[in-house]
Amino acid sequence: MIDKEIKTDKDCMGCQACSNICPVNSISMKKNSEGFWYPYVNYETCIGCGKCVDVCPIINFKQIDNKPQAYACINNNEQERMKSSSGGIFSIIANWILTENGIVYGAAFDDNFNVIHKKVESVEELDELRGSKYVQSWIGSSYKEIKSYLNQGRKILFTGTPCQVEGLLHYLNNNYKNLFTMDIVCHGVPSPKVWEKYLQYVNESRKEKLKYISFRDKTISWENYSLVFKYNEGPPIKNSHKNDLYMQAFLKKVCLRPSCYACCFKGINRRSDITMADFWGINDVYPEMNDNKGTSLILVNTEKGKYMIEANERYMTKKEVDIDLALKKNPAAIQSVAENPNRENFFKGLNSLSFNKLVSKYCPKTNLIKRKYVIFRRKIKSIFG
Ligand SMILES: Cc1cc2nc3c(=O)[nH]c(=O)nc-3n(C[C@H](O)[C@H](O)[C@H](O)COP(=O)(O)OP(=O)(O)OC[C@H]3O[C@@H](n4cnc5c(N)ncnc54)[C@H](O)[C@@H]3O)c2cc1C
Repeated sequence: MIDKEIKTDKDCMGCQACSNICPVNSISMKKNSEGFWYPYVNYETCIGCGKCVDVCPIINFKQIDNKPQAYACINNNEQERMKSSSGGIFSIIANWILTENGIVYGAAFDDNFNVIHKKVESVEELDELRGSKYVQSWIGSSYKEIKSYLNQGRKILFTGTPCQVEGLLHYLNNNYKNLFTMDIVCHGVPSPKVWEKYLQYVNESRKEKLKYISFRDKTISWENYSLVFKYNEGPPIKNSHKNDLYMQAFLKKVCLRPSCYACCFKGINRRSDITMADFWGINDVYPEMNDNKGTSLILVNTEKGKYMIEANERYMTKKEVDIDLALKKNPAAIQSVAENPNRENFFKGLNSLSFNKLVSKYCPKTNLIKRKYVIFRRKIKSIFG
């Protein structure tokens, strides 16, 4: 069944559509040595129905052709925007769904700071889903639950990575009018095991319990965001993303899921209703929309997406932008990131090395002076040959 179709690690994104659809619960998601979930089939109970293969978004990948419109966008509610990673577009749509007695699904932390998909039914709970968590999130039985709510007539907003949205759409295989989807432009998802190892490293010298984490604190600025940790006692600990060891590993592409380096859901033709991203490069397009508190780039992919924006126009400031210009400084929207050549060694060292040794050995900070020197030499070479 599905595990036989997965010939290499790159053939599975861990979207969990197969484990959700199995009618006899014969598929469980188990972590491999790198800490990524893959499906395992129990052949003693498997009835060979083939639903797991038929639902797989990679095996059944179909290219679509739509004409998305791109906008620079800002949530007019300053408090919500400051709590969001980019311009806070997610919060606007989520608030709207909740006021219509709907349910919002997205990525949150559990009590141990593992990242999981969960549902939220009130505006007060929405904080849990706000903000990017740079770890692959656990879908669990979310798709099954969503189907049941949709059949009851509840409005659902599902948000996640492009592969999670595809997983849900393949699982449902039905054009529900009451389903709304938003995916993110995704650099790739790091291993939950790497995240656990980092948390152990951060917590080892602390006696108090960790109570809050933000990957994208914007109090210094949106572009120079920080990771913030709050404990039961003591002041918050703030680390610029440029100095943080976990962000170094994430941004240097050394700890991403193998399928992320060959992601088939890149590009502008997406089946989600809206795609959300940071509007990197906003200064080149609409500098007046950059106050360094965060600006979203949104791609409105479907008629439903257009409706979602029109219904909430009064809560946002937005300007249309040419899509090529919009994506110029956001290559992760279009193409998979390149695998760091040290990836294999990084994961080999994960169990034996301390987190700081692991990162300094396999993805050291680029020396700025050295980088400037290399660029300078390249320029000289191109002028004088
Ligand atoms: C792993 C990852 C990689 C990303 N890579 C890029 C990139 O390369 N370029 C870019 O422009 N933007 C990227 N983003 C998206 C960006 O960081 C913002 O999430 C997005 O712009 C939405 O911001 P917001 O201000 O509207 O809302 P926010 O409140 O900041 O966004 C929260 C939304 O993100 C979803 N989310 C958070 N963490 C996860 C997760 N682990 N898995 C699935 N969904 C999650 C939540 O469900 C919610 O819908 C990435 C996000 C993640 C999680």
